[in-house]
Amino acid sequence: MPNHLFFDLDHTLWDFEANAEETLKELYELYQIQFLAPTSSEEFIAIYSKINRDLWKLYRNHEITKASLRTKRFEDTFKSMGVENRHIPKDIGEKYVEICPTKTALIPGARETLEYLQDQYELHIITNGFEESQNKKLKYSDLGRYFKTVTISEHVGKQKPHPLVFETALKNAKCESNHGIYIGDNLDADIKGAINAGWKAFWLTQDSKGFANPDCHIISNLREIRTYF
Ligand SMILES: [Mg+2]
Repeated sequence: MPNHLFFDLDHTLWDFEANAEETLKELYELYQIQFLAPTSSEEFIAIYSKINRDLWKLYRNHEITKASLRTKRFEDTFKSMGVENRHIPKDIGEKYVEICPTKTALIPGARETLEYLQDQYELHIITNGFEESQNKKLKYSDLGRYFKTVTISEHVGKQKPHPLVFETALKNAKCESNHGIYIGDNLDADIKGAINAGWKAFWLTQDSKGFANPDCHIISNLREIRTYF
């Protein structure tokens, strides 16, 4: 029986969608965005979310830097809303990064699952996010206390699905086995990354799109993990 379990953070434990949406709604009010463009807060959030997702892909492939990801996602959002460059709020990117990680919405079942597992397993985090944001999320949401180690890709110098991220996590955890068990939501970064590193994976998803692999269990709710451990 393994005694280490590794979790992804965003979208797996920390409710990225809900927390980002709450933050963007606050920013919409704070910067009075309704006066910059005839765009509702829902439209603003939808435009930003798509642009952010696309830019994150580029960042994962080392095509853009962290700094340009953080400014460009808002600049591009305002541009596609038709806002002139001189009217784009310059510090909104920093404000987002300041506020969002302090939000505390969790994926359903997250806390009770961790409470249940922590008695029998050493729990760890492997995340692709940025160090200061991820540490802030763990602190404000009070998730940090469940985890013995936190491996952050920015620190490793590679992003999941790169095997070095998983190898580093095993070392950080002082795990004796050369493969671990990973629970995550992203097929490419988490699940294929873990399987490729020789690990077993639990894929938290509502839509597995027919994906099947003997090293991957598919779960639609975190609470299902209890039936395996
Ligand atoms: Mg995730």
